[in-house]
Amino acid sequence: MVVDMGSILLVEDEAVIAESLLYALRSEGLVATWVRDGALASAALARGGIDLVVLDVGLPDVSGFELCRTWRRSSAVPILFLTARSAEIDRVVGLELGADDYVVKPFSPREVTARIRAILRRCAAPVSAESGRTPFRVDDDRLAITYRGQALALSRVQFRLLRALVQRPGRIFSRSQLIDEASGGDPSLDRTVDSHIKDLRAKLRAVDPAVDAILTRRGEGYALREDW
Ligand code: CA
Repeated sequence: MVVDMGSILLVEDEAVIAESLLYALRSEGLVATWVRDGALASAALARGGIDLVVLDVGLPDVSGFELCRTWRRSSAVPILFLTARSAEIDRVVGLELGADDYVVKPFSPREVTARIRAILRRCAAPVSAESGRTPFRVDDDRLAITYRGQALALSRVQFRLLRALVQRPGRIFSRSQLIDEASGGDPSLDRTVDSHIKDLRAKLRAVDPAVDAILTRRGEGYALREDW
């Protein structure tokens, strides 16, 4: 078997779903490991070598959302949620937690595989927020971010915007993706996302006037600079 990218951890308690997904992933040359609950998933993640987690929300021992929240304190591993409910709240909650994408059951294994490939492409060779090369530190418990060791005074929306950018340096976020990441369901952000970015830039320049931390990709959106 030719392995061209990615070792996938599949966390799913329903054997029928897991087996059809495993078959689809492996037939596309992806390496996949299957565990049935959160405890086994955390153990597998701790052992390392995982490039992406496919995470069911409804697990027997812990919710996928809770698991994601815990992992995000120490890991930036890409996460694709499998959710049984299509309500918008699932999407918002999932993305606020730092997940990369989600699919709603029932889904086709082919759709999941395509999304996994898209995430892996997006994340290929990123400057990880944990690599030590980023000047940012995110503290999710205090909703605080430091830049070059200095605490930034951020509104809740600005915290979410900057956290989304910091977690994926170099990734281009469209305005609508940033709204998804940061709004918490507040539709008024649509008109204000650009002014929040402008305000964030001013706060970052106050710390380091020589560097543009947030780059504008004309016609596409915003990205955090990668070359620190
Ligand atoms: Ca389940």
